[in-house]
Amino acid sequence: MIAQNKASRWQGKARKHKKISLTALLSGLVTISVLMTLTIMFISSYTSQKQSLIDNTLSLNYSSAAQMSQTLDSLFQSMQNSLKYAADYFPQMDYSDTEKLDSTLELIRSSSNFFNSITLVDDKGVIRSTSPYSNKNIGMQISSNAAKIAFESRASYISEAYQSPLSKRRIVFVSEPIFDAAGVFKGTIGGNIFLQENNILNLSFGSQLKTSNGSYFFIVDAKGTLLFHPDTKRIGENISKNEIVQKLLNDQTGKEQYKNLAGVDSLAGYQKVPATDWGVVVVSPTQTVYDQLNEHIRMLLLYTSVPFLILTLIVIRVARKLASPFVYLADLVNQVDQGKVDLPTMKPHWNREADLLTRTVLSALANFRKQTDQLTYDARTDVLTGMTNRRTFEEVIQQWIDEQVTFSIIVIDIDRFKSINDTYGHHAGDEVLKHIAGLIKLAVRPLDVSSRFGGEEFVVLLRHTESDTAYQIAEYIRVSVEESVMPVDRSVTISAGIAEYPLHSSSATELFHLADNALYQAKEEGRNRTVTIQTVEK
Ligand code: GH3
Ligand code: MG
Ligand code: MG
Repeated sequence: MIAQNKASRWQGKARKHKKISLTALLSGLVTISVLMTLTIMFISSYTSQKQSLIDNTLSLNYSSAAQMSQTLDSLFQSMQNSLKYAADYFPQMDYSDTEKLDSTLELIRSSSNFFNSITLVDDKGVIRSTSPYSNKNIGMQISSNAAKIAFESRASYISEAYQSPLSKRRIVFVSEPIFDAAGVFKGTIGGNIFLQENNILNLSFGSQLKTSNGSYFFIVDAKGTLLFHPDTKRIGENISKNEIVQKLLNDQTGKEQYKNLAGVDSLAGYQKVPATDWGVVVVSPTQTVYDQLNEHIRMLLLYTSVPFLILTLIVIRVARKLASPFVYLADLVNQVDQGKVDLPTMKPHWNREADLLTRTVLSALANFRKQTDQLTYDARTDVLTGMTNRRTFEEVIQQWIDEQVTFSIIVIDIDRFKSINDTYGHHAGDEVLKHIAGLIKLAVRPLDVSSRFGGEEFVVLLRHTESDTAYQIAEYIRVSVEESVMPVDRSVTISAGIAEYPLHSSSATELFHLADNALYQAKEEGRNRTVTIQTVEK
C-alpha cells in the first residue's frame, strides 16, 4: 500500500517535468555543435584576419608614403633645375626689353606646369616681369618675406607655406639666384605654387587624393602646416598637434595606428621629403579595415552556410534514423504496458545495437505476453475440469446483465457425491467430476458459459435462452449423466435448478439464489431431477 502510494506520487512528479524525446535531444545536440563550430570558425577567422588586415594596411600606407616622398623629392629637384636653367639664361638678356622678358618668363612657366606664377626680380629687388603678366606688380619692390629671404640669401630657396599679405593666397615659393658669367648677382627667379588652386601637387598626386576604400594622404611642411589635403579648406591649417605630424617634425618615419585630431581611429604610414623637409602621411580610417572584415565574414557566411546547413540536415536525418528504433520501442513498450496493441513482427535495423535491442525487447515482450496470458487463463480456469471457474462465472453474469440480454442459469449438484468419495476414494471422485464436466460442456453451445462453481457444483449460463429451453437442456444433461458410463462402476445422477433473467430477477445474486433454491427443491423432491423456480406471479 505504502509502496503503491510512493509509486503514484513518483508518477505524478514525472508527469510535471516535460520529458525530452531522444530525437529532439540528438537533433538539438547536432544543431548546437554545428552552430558552435561555425561561431568558433568565425571568431578565429575574424581575429586573425583583423590583425593581418591592419598590418597590411599599415605596410601599404608606409610604402605609399615612401613612394610619394620620393616623387615629391624628385619633383622639387626638377623644379629647382628648371629655375636654375632659366637663371643661367637671364644674365644675357636686356632687362629693358620688357616684352622679351615677359614672353620668356611665360615660356618657362607654361613649358613645365611646375608653377602657378613666376616672378623675375633684378639685383635691386625690383620686380621686372611676372608670368602670368600682372601690370600692378612690375616695377614694384619685392614685398613678401619669402621673396626677401630668397633675395637676400642669394641661394636656392624653398619657402614654408605662407599667406600672401596682398592676395591672401596660401603659397609655397621656390627661388634660384641669378649670377652673370663673372659671378655678379643679378637678381632672382622664383616660382609660386598656389596651394589652394590647381597646382603641380594636384597634377602629380590628384588621382591618389582619395581612394575608394576611404584612404587619403596629406602633406605638411617643416612647421606642421598643411600643404596638401583632400579637404582644400584645411590647407594652411597648422596640425602640428597631430601625433603623427609631431613624429615627422622630429624627423621620424614609420607606420602606426593612432587617433587623428578629429578622434577618428586611423592607420598611418609617414615619410619625410628630403628636398623640402616636408612630411607625407598616408591614412586609412581603421573603420575601412572593419568594413573589409565585415565583407569577408559576410562572404564566409554565404559560402559556408549552405554546406553547413546541408551537413546539419544530413546529420539530423541520420540521428533521427538512429533514434527511431529506440523511439519505436519506447512507444511500443508503453502501448503494450497499457494493453493497447498486438506485438508487431520484428523489422531488422542497420545499427547493431538498435537491432539487438529491438530483438531482445520484442522477444521479452512476447514472453511477457505469454506469461500474462497463462496467468489470466489460470485465474479464470478450474484446474481439475478445465471449465471456467466461479470468478469467471460472476464476471460473465454481470456482463450479461449489463448488456440486458435474456438468459437462463442452471445450477447443477451431483447427488450423494460424498458416498462416491467414501466408496471409491477421493481420486475416483475427481474422475467423476471431470467426466460430468465433460458431459455438461458437450451439451451447451460455444456462446454459453459453463463453470465449476466449487466442490461438486456446476453453473451453466445459457445466452438468449428462456427457462423452458433451459429446462430441456438441463434435462438433457441430467439424462446423459444418468445414462453415461461413469469412471466408477455405478451410475451417478445430478439435480438441477433453473432461473431466468430478467424474468425471475434482475440481480445476479438473487438470480443465483433462486436457481439454488430450485436445486434445493429438486433434492428435496428426491434428487435426479430438474426444477425451474416458480415465482409468485407465475
Ligand atoms: P447431496 O445429494 O445432498 O448433494 O449429497 P452430497 O453427498 O453430494 O452432499 P455433501 O455436500 O454432503 O457432500 C459433498 C461432497 O463433495 C463433500 C466432499 O467430500 C465432496 N467434494 C467436494 N469437492 C470435491 C472435490 O474436489 N473432489 C472430490 N473427490 N470430492 C469433493
Ligand atoms: Mg453439494
Ligand atoms: Mg451433492
